[in-house]
Amino acid sequence: MTVTMDTPVRNLPQVGEVRAGKLAKLGIATAADLLSYYPRNYEDRTRFSTIADAPMDRRVCITATPTEYPHYAYLRKGLEMVSLIAMDDSGTIRLVFFNQVYVKNVLVPGREYVFYGMVEEQSGKRSMTNPVFEAAGKSVVTGRIMPIYPLTAGITNVLMSGWTRQVLEAGLRPPETLPESVRRAHALVSVEQAVQDIHFPSDDQALARARRRLTFEELFYLSAGLRLLKDRRNRVGKGREIPETPWEQFRALLPFEPTGAQRRVMGEVAADLSSGRLMNRLVQGDVGSGKTLVAAYAAWLAIRAGHQAAIMAPTEILAEQHARLLRELLEPAGIRVELLTGALTAAEKRRRRKALEEGETDLAVGTHALISESVRFRDLALIVADEQHRFGVAQRSALAAKGGEQTPPHALVMSATPIPRTLALIVYGDLDVSVVDEMPPGRTPVDTFVIRDDKRERMYGFVRKQTQEGHQVYIVCPAVEENPEEEGGMDLKAVKAYAEKLRTEVFPDLAVGLVHGKMRPKEKDAAMAAFVSGETQVLVSTTVVEVGVDVPNATLMIIEDADRFGLSQLHQLRGRVGRGKFPSFCVLMTATQSRNAMVRLRTLADTNDGFRISEEDLKVRGPGEFFGSRQHGMPEMKLADLTGDMRVLQEAQMAAGELLDGDPDLVRPENRPVLERVRQLFADSPDIFS
Ligand code: ADP
Ligand code: MG
Repeated sequence: MTVTMDTPVRNLPQVGEVRAGKLAKLGIATAADLLSYYPRNYEDRTRFSTIADAPMDRRVCITATPTEYPHYAYLRKGLEMVSLIAMDDSGTIRLVFFNQVYVKNVLVPGREYVFYGMVEEQSGKRSMTNPVFEAAGKSVVTGRIMPIYPLTAGITNVLMSGWTRQVLEAGLRPPETLPESVRRAHALVSVEQAVQDIHFPSDDQALARARRRLTFEELFYLSAGLRLLKDRRNRVGKGREIPETPWEQFRALLPFEPTGAQRRVMGEVAADLSSGRLMNRLVQGDVGSGKTLVAAYAAWLAIRAGHQAAIMAPTEILAEQHARLLRELLEPAGIRVELLTGALTAAEKRRRRKALEEGETDLAVGTHALISESVRFRDLALIVADEQHRFGVAQRSALAAKGGEQTPPHALVMSATPIPRTLALIVYGDLDVSVVDEMPPGRTPVDTFVIRDDKRERMYGFVRKQTQEGHQVYIVCPAVEENPEEEGGMDLKAVKAYAEKLRTEVFPDLAVGLVHGKMRPKEKDAAMAAFVSGETQVLVSTTVVEVGVDVPNATLMIIEDADRFGLSQLHQLRGRVGRGKFPSFCVLMTATQSRNAMVRLRTLADTNDGFRISEEDLKVRGPGEFFGSRQHGMPEMKLADLTGDMRVLQEAQMAAGELLDGDPDLVRPENRPVLERVRQLFADSPDIFS
């Protein structure tokens, strides 16, 4: 059979209907998909030893010859054994296989095989249990570095590596798309070489070169795409010119003095708005740094100039919270604020939409529904998206279309996910960035403790103490359903059971609530509302409380299995407390045995600085944390999370910049493949590259 890149995996030997279905779940439909399905790890099986010299503490390959036909033994139901003796020049070894009866008919005395496994010794006799083996000289599953693939039930690693090998042996490789000049300048191996070596590297150096090339490639196309977006907007992006108004007028509305950082960022926003160019600005700032005020100021400027503004939040609860706050702040200045959420009755929704369309409402606050087709504005000049990591490139471009025939609205996106500067360049490559790097005065830092699981009673005591003082408590559990990459988190059943146990056994006298991501929106809102109003004293939840919720009376955040979270995420969660004037606490519960994990968690106890924490995260976990799970709405990165090498990141970014400086629209023939790849990468937002 001739295999081509488009050959469906179904047509490969040993695939068939059922396995094809399973592969489809892994996103593998064709031969080409197999090639770009990269190993998540490797097992070094290159070390050979003689039987006599084999170490007991690591797996090795042994070349040996069976001296007899294998013996079969039925031990009990479900347990069958095949065993035999094999020898080399140095001695003999007993090979034992459990529940692999086929071995009986495969191993032939007198022939030479390579066995890979861990050698054990009992009263001077050496043995190996369930070794991997093959005929000597074959070097397919022994004597080499083996790829370990992410798998799904019913697909084994041997099958997966076999199919991939077959496709490679058929000579198939993806076409080279990186320009020759870029490859030469950055000493990158060819795509042919890289794809071969990412699956079956001959040694560590070959693997390192392959990774470097493929990581570079991913980041290169990502940077190029974001840069194209930015350039294009800047070129065609005429924005409404919104004049600055005397600062004192806005200042007079505020109950407090803005921090220096808030002032500076508001200045940057005002400069954007009055420039005549379209604003595309990201405001980054740690939780609690007061980003909402920047949003309010931008909206105020737009509205004072006679236009409308919209603020989008990731959840309805947050939208309500914003609406309340903005009303208090801006209504005294005669600005009409309206909330638009899914919870409204149809008639009410219609009424409020009409008010927007006719320009009766100046400022709309809502969820992403605000950018849906059916919501029309009379003259929308500004959209603010709060908590940017739920607001990807695709939405940003849908937003730009919102201006319709007229000029598109200015965009301001807010993110509380601090991101190291090196990464910000790439992740937010299409935006200008401002940083609110100062906290409002009078904040007491949240006191953070790492507590071992055996001190659980003490933790319960602390919960009780806080509630007795009239305060509220969050207890957050990792849930696998909402965080599928996390291995070994609780399942939702366990979270529910834990909440139930707290309610009935541990705190029968307290009001314990539960909120998780699989609840219906109405139930979830009701559960959150009960906590916001103070009715619920202890709220058990999954990470759905992560973003933006402001309950100043909550003073204690407990995080179960804290070692399962990334540091930045823990920091986000911690940001839910310490928002009022009361001393606040964060308790990180853990049962981990790992010293590293403890050190990591203690970082959190040592600092409240989100940027420092994210740098630490980057060091320990690599950029995957930031690119992973599409949390920035970025195209998915395959390899970028496999490498911790920050230099590749910067190099790729620079290279993309240089290429675009010389050919801003990628129209030169040699750069066409780059444009093609960028288009594919951003296929989710087709209107970006028309
Ligand atoms: P975030 O950056 O996390 O969105 P918020 O905008 O919600 O932060 O602000 C957190 C809290 O700090 C709010 O209660 C807000 O009223 C308050 N705040 C914001 N700026 C100041 C300031 N300059 N001085 C005092 N309090 C402030
Ligand atoms: Mg906020």
